Amino acid sequence: MSERVWNFSAGPATMPLPVLEQARDELVALPGVGASVLEISHRSRAFEAIVDETEANLRDLLEIPPTHRVLFLQGGASLQFAMVPMNLLGDRAAQYVVTGSWSKKAVAEARHFGAADVVWDGAGDDYTSVPDLGGLSFDDSAAYVHVTSNETIGGVEFPAGFEGHVRGRAPLVCDASSDFLSRPLELSRFGAIYAGAQKNAGPAGLTIVVLDEALAARAADGIATILEYRTLIEHRSLYNTPPTFAVYVLMLVTRWLRDEIGGLDKMAERNEEKAALLYDAIDASDGFYRGHARPEARSRMNVTWRLPDEGLEETFVDQARAEGLVELKGHRSVGGIRASIYNAMPVEGVRALRTFMDGFAARHA
Ligand code: PMP
Repeated sequence: MSERVWNFSAGPATMPLPVLEQARDELVALPGVGASVLEISHRSRAFEAIVDETEANLRDLLEIPPTHRVLFLQGGASLQFAMVPMNLLGDRAAQYVVTGSWSKKAVAEARHFGAADVVWDGAGDDYTSVPDLGGLSFDDSAAYVHVTSNETIGGVEFPAGFEGHVRGRAPLVCDASSDFLSRPLELSRFGAIYAGAQKNAGPAGLTIVVLDEALAARAADGIATILEYRTLIEHRSLYNTPPTFAVYVLMLVTRWLRDEIGGLDKMAERNEEKAALLYDAIDASDGFYRGHARPEARSRMNVTWRLPDEGLEETFVDQARAEGLVELKGHRSVGGIRASIYNAMPVEGVRALRTFMDGFAARHA
């Protein structure tokens, strides 16, 4: 197959086509370098320029304050589930808001290193909602408060500006893996955010961490050098060999966001528009499609819903695939349908899915 399909994979996920094309065109020889980005030293001038530009672009797009450092790491968001408590817990307790499978994993991991309290847990309503963060009381002396801005499996997301509602003095730490760069964030309100690149930002193998340097400075001693934020800051992500190709692709993605999309406000508008197309189809289906998330917690990135029975869900996925709409099966732990519509999914792809949904409902309702 050489035609591109509409790929609704939850991650690794569809990439901006111009980014893929440029990476292809430059794969054998980077302009001005004469060697592939795959072949050059991570300590070369050429790669340094790539790291510098990528960081500068991220700083511009996200308006990252000078207090915060940007790290390009490996190990996925899953390693951050461990590095955050290893570095930041000390002898205090952390507080976790649990909105789905990923936050659950984050708490479980933190408990290997110390105390992690669950302040709010959405298990009672099957993880269909997010709390009003302004209504929760966090302990000022907590090591940190941890939230997951978007739950990739359940498809629930905190609304834009949620960081402004968190009260108290404990630093806010956020797993932003599946909505990173999808809308502006007020970074000065976060002690740290982290995200695996493979949804909105680039290839798998790269994890972006943005953290307040003051927070990193207070990290515990005695943990492995490579897992200390301090070390990684000191070496500007070059303590050991970083995932060089993935950083290069992230650079191209940040250029695309700036030059073709026009920044994160514009990206957020597009993402709202795309998500509305699918939620409208769900709401207009007279109960044929049942959305998982409550309306106020609906994710703009991962739209999840059910059909009247599993047989129909299978037929839906199969018929969609035959029309070039792929990777719509829900996560194996929850079933149903999931359409991941990250930044790089064009509105045309979402329209094609919408048309398919309307037709399928008309044929089977
Ligand atoms: N957190 C969230 C919200 C995720 O979606 C994922 C990956 N699907 C992870 C953490 C784990 O990320 P990784 O596979 O990069 O370790």
